[in-house]
Amino acid sequence: MTSTAPDRLAVARAAYNDVPLYDPKRTPVKLDLTDNTNLWGVPPRAEQEIREFAAATITRYPTLYGTELKAALAAHAGVTADMVVTGCGSDDVLDSAMRAFGNEGDLVAAPDPTFAMVPIFAKMNVLRSTLITELPDHEVDAEALLATGAKVIYVCSPNNPTGALVARRTLETLIDRAPGVVLIDEAYTEFAGVSNVDLLARAPRVLLIRTLSKAFGLAGLRIGYALGQPQLVAEVEKSRGPYKVNALAERVAVAALRHDVQWVEEHIQLAVQNRDRLTIELLKLGLDPIPSSANFVCVPVRNAVAVAMAMREKGVGVRPFPNLPRIGDCLRISVGPWPMVEQGVTALAAAIKKVGTK
Ligand SMILES: *Cc1c(COP(=O)(O)O)cnc(C)c1O
Repeated sequence: MTSTAPDRLAVARAAYNDVPLYDPKRTPVKLDLTDNTNLWGVPPRAEQEIREFAAATITRYPTLYGTELKAALAAHAGVTADMVVTGCGSDDVLDSAMRAFGNEGDLVAAPDPTFAMVPIFAKMNVLRSTLITELPDHEVDAEALLATGAKVIYVCSPNNPTGALVARRTLETLIDRAPGVVLIDEAYTEFAGVSNVDLLARAPRVLLIRTLSKAFGLAGLRIGYALGQPQLVAEVEKSRGPYKVNALAERVAVAALRHDVQWVEEHIQLAVQNRDRLTIELLKLGLDPIPSSANFVCVPVRNAVAVAMAMREKGVGVRPFPNLPRIGDCLRISVGPWPMVEQGVTALAAAIKKVGTK
């Protein structure tokens, strides 16, 4: 790595030399099963709030740190408002947390495979990162993560892209023995049917990072949050800065948390049913899908990039992951209403036949 890449300005920050722009190759496609958002749509009360939002409100700043939103999230999660920090998507919360706890050059450790943004956020905050290959059966290697001595340990449960839930005792081992902070990314926790909120009482240095982008169907509004002990959360809030959640997003999120939870829960149930049904369909195709606790299924498929491209030609987008550790090539398929999933399965079967997977 040099600080004088020829295509970069001399004034650019050297640490950003090999920071790429995020590019999940999300080109428009008729049926998009790539990003695990809510394919049933926006919850009804949220939609109503968006339509009725007074444009005049936009001339004013939103609240500094999202006071009302924090209160609504706290009530939803069963914690106090001083245990919540919000952000412009949970990406922003994760980024802010790394910045809050990592001194320049500190280490971030995470399992591999996991959320692809983690090493990028580390680099953006001038931290180093190390990825620890998962154990068989998609178990997180807690001992190896702890052995890195990392200031920041990241785990994602259910994990993206595998869908695997991190065992409760693994989380406990990590938070009991980590020398620094443990960030537990719970972007898909609603689909797992388990709660880790009680872990917050066990240890002062754990954050549960969550989002309204997936189960709540509000990805476009960019609302994320974290739960943790008040002193920990206060540090994330400092590094996050004021005005990060815009006025419309805050208003809609509060309405959704107050009035749409039943709708959200009903659609979580549908997603879980269709996920399990998709898993069975994949087994019928002779594939070996990874048991998922999220709203997507990860299925090892040889030549995944070519298979995904063939599916795209038929109007169905799925996310290929080439050559993941322990898994090899795989596809991650989002779950939505059954006719969409069914179309995905049909396109996958045709694509495998066309591309060949030997
Ligand atoms: C989707 C996703 C996020 C990002 O969510 P936003 O709140 O939209 O920024 C974070 N972590 C994981 C693992 C995700 O899959």
